[in-house]
Amino acid sequence: MTAKKFCNYVWLNGEIIPWEESLIPVSAHSLHYAGSVFEGQRAYNGRIFKLAEHTQRLINSAQLIGLSVPYSAAQIEQANIDILDKNQLKNAYIRPVIWRGGESLKIYDEALQSNLAIFVSESNPAFKNPMSLFLSPWRKPSADIMPVQSKSAAHYAMLSMSQKMAKDQGFDDALLLDTEGNIAEISSANIFFVAYEAGHVLEIVTPIADRFLNGVTRQTIIELAKIAGYKLVEKRLKLEELPNYQTCFVTGTSVELCAVSLIDIGKNQLKFEQLEIVEELQNLYAELVGKVVDEEINE
Ligand code: PMP
Repeated sequence: MTAKKFCNYVWLNGEIIPWEESLIPVSAHSLHYAGSVFEGQRAYNGRIFKLAEHTQRLINSAQLIGLSVPYSAAQIEQANIDILDKNQLKNAYIRPVIWRGGESLKIYDEALQSNLAIFVSESNPAFKNPMSLFLSPWRKPSADIMPVQSKSAAHYAMLSMSQKMAKDQGFDDALLLDTEGNIAEISSANIFFVAYEAGHVLEIVTPIADRFLNGVTRQTIIELAKIAGYKLVEKRLKLEELPNYQTCFVTGTSVELCAVSLIDIGKNQLKFEQLEIVEELQNLYAELVGKVVDEEINE
């Protein structure tokens, strides 16, 4: 069994332990039945961006799939701060995860207990380069199939299959449609498109987040774009409408704000230009989160 060592210490059920001791039993219920929920957060210069929002989403994600949460929001927030501090990292990706333990192998059993672990991973302060997308043949499950706002492992089986297909064919990530054929999101980020008129931004469009995760970054970028004076529209969007948009970008805690250069839709490839709007929103985001993007750190 191999595992990458992400950090020196892990917060596990109220204790801080060395990474090497953070072992879970092979009978862990969530390993078999996907009943776990998690968060992805980032610290910039020692401050965890929107920690309260992420913690609340973690708790909601658990409640939506009937998983008990053994700690209060305040305790979870403090645990995040403590483990970041213990690992002596200032710019980091932080991963809290709640899962059912190995008390039973039944699909559900009252004996099952919830566990909470938090670990961290050093993050690169540079923004990522434009990415290319492959159209996944898989669709996002609709709200009557799974609780779509639960950041639950159950969703990620299909997302990781889609991402594997994209990578196998030389693309960076996969674009997912919903069951009605509308654009939804990519494997772990939300998507935006920009239309122009006479060289000026006419509108920024993003799909309505009622059938996929309404990302914290998505909500932040919507706010920032509106404050900057742009017309921001949330609507259903079909593949056939994409040629009306010249710029495309994705948003997420890990990817932050990253331009998309092309989407391969099978019969043809849609090309997008990384116009100034991407850099403008990246700068606004960097300022808000407290990100330092200078030459020295990028090297
Ligand atoms: N959709 C999915 C499926 C994701 O995994 C993520 C990453 N958490 C997002 C969207 C973006 O969410 P956020 O901006 O809160 O990171």
